[in-house]
Amino acid sequence: MTALLVPVFEAGVAPAEGLQQREGVPVLATSIRMAAPDLVSLQRAGEHHLGLSLTKACPLSCGHCSAATVPAAMHPFVSIPSADIARYCAEMPELARRGLTSISLTGGEPVLALQHVAALSRAARDAGIRTTLVTGLYWAAGAALRRKVIEALPCIDSWNISWDRFHAAEVKLANVAIAVREITATGAALTVRVAIDDPATPEDEAMYDALVEALPAVEIVVQSVRPVGRAADREAPASGDRAAPAWPCLSTGPLVMSDGSARPCCSSMMDEPHHPFDASSAAQGLVALREAWLDDPLLLMLRAVGFAPVLEILSDIAPDHPLTQGTTAHPCDVCSTLFGDRALAGKIKAAVAAEPVAGLARAAARDIFASATTAGLAVIREQEQADA
Ligand code: SF4
Ligand code: SF4
Repeated sequence: MTALLVPVFEAGVAPAEGLQQREGVPVLATSIRMAAPDLVSLQRAGEHHLGLSLTKACPLSCGHCSAATVPAAMHPFVSIPSADIARYCAEMPELARRGLTSISLTGGEPVLALQHVAALSRAARDAGIRTTLVTGLYWAAGAALRRKVIEALPCIDSWNISWDRFHAAEVKLANVAIAVREITATGAALTVRVAIDDPATPEDEAMYDALVEALPAVEIVVQSVRPVGRAADREAPASGDRAAPAWPCLSTGPLVMSDGSARPCCSSMMDEPHHPFDASSAAQGLVALREAWLDDPLLLMLRAVGFAPVLEILSDIAPDHPLTQGTTAHPCDVCSTLFGDRALAGKIKAAVAAEPVAGLARAAARDIFASATTAGLAVIREQEQADA
């Protein structure tokens, strides 16, 4: 298992085709070329953030939805109970003391749980923690509802609005523009998140151009649609010609699900209950959940080293698995293929939790994450130079 100690940050990823940066408009591509020190910083940011999926319900039914939402009428049955929200609010000061600096509230559509968004963001602000709200803007069509939502949420520091060709059928761009103007007037930060195919389709490009024209000064973040949730039947990139994904896990921290279970990220594992990270926010609370995420040997390995050691383990326990023949570049696709299989997920978890693997994973993470400025980065830079 010596491979565990070798940093395998390969950060050369092709930028999204079709969408180019417009002058004066801050646009982040779906994938970026990133130096190893920046990559480590990005990964360390995940240590200071957690997300809460307040409800699995949403009034919209976007075809690419990674959360595979249920209709809004189901909201009372698929949302975090008020008692748990009160408990999470009470934990904010302790979370802040332990280094949490930001939370994201998502869903489904979190605005369905408006009072819970207000309570969590208030408690977070009182503790010095920033809050981002992720919304699909179903509520943007009428002036009264817009006012009600925006006025109810003065403690949201950053609004993360999803709009693209999938949302366009149900949310008009003109209403997005009005809501953006009204939110911006409150002084809160705002980003529009656009999901596209990679490479972008002509329809993606047309929507993107319309968005840039309607919102000339707004930050736009472009992400590629992953084959999970409601988009699970898209071309499944389970295998490819690479020995391992091109970059390690970039989880932004643990995600609390509306049923009290937890996920290792808000990415492709969101709709996947079988991931080996099986902590429970409902049973343990947010402080314990975050500690479990920080100390989980499999997550430490995937974040610090990447998937190569796990694929080595896979070769031992399932030598005929397609991923032993090759993978695609994106780590989340490998993650959902591996851990969507409950039996395999259990075997991999057991193998990584056993010594000496768990100890090596923790040591690798310590070396790489312990200092983003000294020894860990020196090792990584040395490796980069050797590879160049
Ligand atoms: S608005 Fe968001 S949560 Fe709702 S269906 Fe669309 S992608 Fe899913
Ligand atoms: S690699 Fe897995 S755990 Fe990491 S962000 Fe992707 S789906 Fe989540």
